[in-house]
Amino acid sequence: MKTIEIKCDGCGADITSTGNCFDYRLALVVETRAVQGPSVTAMAVSLPLDHDHHLCGINCLDQWRDRKRHEAKLWSDWNQQWKEEHATKDPSGRILAWQSPPREILDARRPEFEAAALAAFPMKVTK
Ligand SMILES: [Zn+2]
Repeated sequence: MKTIEIKCDGCGADITSTGNCFDYRLALVVETRAVQGPSVTAMAVSLPLDHDHHLCGINCLDQWRDRKRHEAKLWSDWNQQWKEEHATKDPSGRILAWQSPPREILDARRPEFEAAALAAFPMKVTK
């Protein structure tokens, strides 16, 4: 048996179904844009989201976005620190080049930043 449960990405509420009252949920999904023209290239195109997101409504969308922005700031700060520590610099200290962190290091950091963002913007019902 396959059971699908849908939880709000903002507050964590179970929004799979409703009781005896008609209700809605918000879905943030990636759609493919229509192609116009005789040919298509798909070089360096990445999805704007890793997966679909479901939310109770606009308040939970704001809460989820605040959490994601916080996480992005943590990544940005950490990347800047990585550059400072691993860059090739000229005598004045100006960064000339650097190598991106290996995938294993990024994967190891991800849970830490997700947890910090969740602690800063915890799942809570805002309705
Ligand atoms: Zn919610």
